Amino acid sequence: MELKLIDGREKMTEARVGKNGVPFLTFKPLEKFTWLRNGFSTREGGVSEDIFKSLNLAHNRGDKTENIVENFKLIGEAMEMPAENMVYAQQTHTTTVLTVDHTRCGMGVLKDRDFHDVDALVTDDPGVVLVTGHADCIPLFFVDPVHKAIGLAHAGWKGTINNIAAEVIREMYRSFKTDPEELVVVIGPGVCGNCYEVGEDVASQFRKKYDTNVIRTKVSVPGKYTLDLHLANMYNMQRAGVPEENIHVSDVCTMENPDVLFSHRATDGKRGGCCAFLEII
Ligand SMILES: [Zn+2]
Repeated sequence: MELKLIDGREKMTEARVGKNGVPFLTFKPLEKFTWLRNGFSTREGGVSEDIFKSLNLAHNRGDKTENIVENFKLIGEAMEMPAENMVYAQQTHTTTVLTVDHTRCGMGVLKDRDFHDVDALVTDDPGVVLVTGHADCIPLFFVDPVHKAIGLAHAGWKGTINNIAAEVIREMYRSFKTDPEELVVVIGPGVCGNCYEVGEDVASQFRKKYDTNVIRTKVSVPGKYTLDLHLANMYNMQRAGVPEENIHVSDVCTMENPDVLFSHRATDGKRGGCCAFLEII
């Protein structure tokens, strides 16, 4: 796998291969927690075809359900996070966070969910694999080493401007007494601040809340701007009280790696989806 990295960022993404030959990514800042497993799927090692080639984990985009289920089993086996233990968020660009436990294992992967419109999941229950789906939108990984609790969120531009990071931290406090000062977070692979073009409507919302590093004017294209969701989420984490040294920003842009990772923008929406995974073992 040939992964192009963003210059100047902490080198944090590692490519691994499971015993079944299926590759996946892991993030170094989370490796020190021996009670955790973390992962991010790639396009490689699955059974789907055409625009979904090959490890598609996104529902409702035209791929066969049996392929998606098989892909979940394959990636789960590779990462040693079994599909039957996964709970898959039902993402609609909300800031809704749900605390889950083992009673919901398998939901969204092997059986129907009993929840909807949930863009972030948190748990302190060992053996529950939290799952969020991504294809340019940013995955946010939260680890509370004091209370041994975790969270995983999906942050596109709506989730970012509406600050889903703060909502996750609030829910982790409510459920587990998590103190933001103790949190370690990874802002994972997604479209980077050089690639993500937005119009004035989105730009003006971000300009009100963030500085000019987050939203930049694109000189070459009048009326177009570039938006750095990695950086905006970093500010969201800082403003919520997470110490700067505990915030790790990904060195991977999905749009610059369209052969390795699914990217909505790079494929004009003709795509499958990758997933982020986080589990207390
Ligand atoms: Zn990029």
